[in-house]
Amino acid sequence: MKIKSCNSCDLCLSNNFTPVSGRGNKYPTFMFVGEAPGYTEYKEGSPFVGVSGKLLQSYINNINLNNVSYITNAVKCRPPANREPLWYELDICRNYLEAEIIIHNPKVIILLGRTAINSYFNTYIPTLKKLVGIPFEYNNRIIYINWHPSYILRNPKLTIEYDKMFKFLSSYYKLINPLYK
Ligand code: URA
Repeated sequence: MKIKSCNSCDLCLSNNFTPVSGRGNKYPTFMFVGEAPGYTEYKEGSPFVGVSGKLLQSYINNINLNNVSYITNAVKCRPPANREPLWYELDICRNYLEAEIIIHNPKVIILLGRTAINSYFNTYIPTLKKLVGIPFEYNNRIIYINWHPSYILRNPKLTIEYDKMFKFLSSYYKLINPLYK
């Protein structure tokens, strides 16, 4: 979903009123939701193209599912100094995430990190430790919660959770598309 311009909150000003829109398949099986664009994403105008994006993208490419994936963020503008988005910024930007979900209608939503969870469920959780790696059904979609890729980069032991998740996504896709792989 292309968001041409926005002036709904203070973040727009420092982002030249140009949010970073999601990218990928228009009718994806998988929708990956991160926190907010970083500097590289803001410069390139595309989500998850910096260091943590490269990690995420390599996992997606490894199982050959790039063409059925859509990647976006809970907040579409870069917060100053990469701070966590504030609750009201999440609140305002949730309209966009909800619209993206309706328009693109993914079968599986992968929430990467606390901000994505807090935005999607309109809640506040201090940690996602107990939620990681347990897919569940919600509103007729599968939800899969995992650590944000930047956290995986800082805690390499947790790559096991990404290995597990992408195995699950690959098996799920095989189930709905027997021609896959
Ligand atoms: N971190 C995010 O949450 N999203 C991006 O697009 C880049 C880094």
